Amino acid sequence: MRARGLCYHPTTLLRFRVLGSGSSGNATLVEADGGRLLIDAGLGSRELAERVQSAGVDPASLCAVLLSHEHNDHARGAASFSRKWGVRLAGSRGTYAAAGLGAEEIAGYDVLEPLVTRSFGPFTVRGLAVPHDAAGPMAFVVACGGGALGHATDFGHLNMSLVDGFRGCDAVLIESNYDPGMLRDGPYPWSLKARISGGYGHLSNQDTARYLSNGLGEACRAVVLAHLSETNNHPEVARLTAETALRKRGRAEVRLEICGREGTDWFDVAAAPPPEPRGPRQLRLF
Ligand SMILES: [Zn+2]
Ligand SMILES: [Zn+2]
Repeated sequence: MRARGLCYHPTTLLRFRVLGSGSSGNATLVEADGGRLLIDAGLGSRELAERVQSAGVDPASLCAVLLSHEHNDHARGAASFSRKWGVRLAGSRGTYAAAGLGAEEIAGYDVLEPLVTRSFGPFTVRGLAVPHDAAGPMAFVVACGGGALGHATDFGHLNMSLVDGFRGCDAVLIESNYDPGMLRDGPYPWSLKARISGGYGHLSNQDTARYLSNGLGEACRAVVLAHLSETNNHPEVARLTAETALRKRGRAEVRLEICGREGTDWFDVAAAPPPEPRGPRQLRLF
């Protein structure tokens, strides 16, 4: 969402880089205007620090680590990373309690309420409540300099809060967790299959395609599919399903990337230019 009060500023580049994705550990680095933050810390603290450093960023320079929820693949390294590098954590009250952060020595914790915008360094962050089997799971819209990134993994169905919240985003990272046929015929026990495909589990390729064809905002020019299951999905199946949805919607120009477990290179999120002024472009001479 383009945060109110932020004007179009083409020289301030918002960019992001996924450092890890999927059940082995999630983390996304976001950078703009001299500031950096992390979304999720689902890798071990040392591994996470190494990946942040390999992206050319000093872990101690982060202005926050946002936590989407308490599950291990999103919060595994949060407390020790916060303690070692002196970086504050932020997320819902439910995440704080369920991750047991009250019993940990951490640099600090900022509570995020759904739909309330907060500032972290040069960024504005807005949390959106999402349906997942966790204590207070959130998606985030991170904005800076007129560009905005929507970041949502781990949710079982699309809700209007997310669709509306992401409407103004220039780039969207969204999960495309499983192919329904592969999940149904795969090796997981029935109870786990039911959990994953339930309304508080994960998004299927088809759910994500539905979002792309019906909910994706006009401003969005890049989509990253993330948190793909290695057992119940295949990157090319996810890509084809999403591409077909974008083409049907008439949005084949949207850049589409599939994120593997090792993450991605940097993505630039350039803000959409302001709308053309209405009226004739040239002065009439006569
Ligand atoms: Zn997860
Ligand atoms: Zn989860």
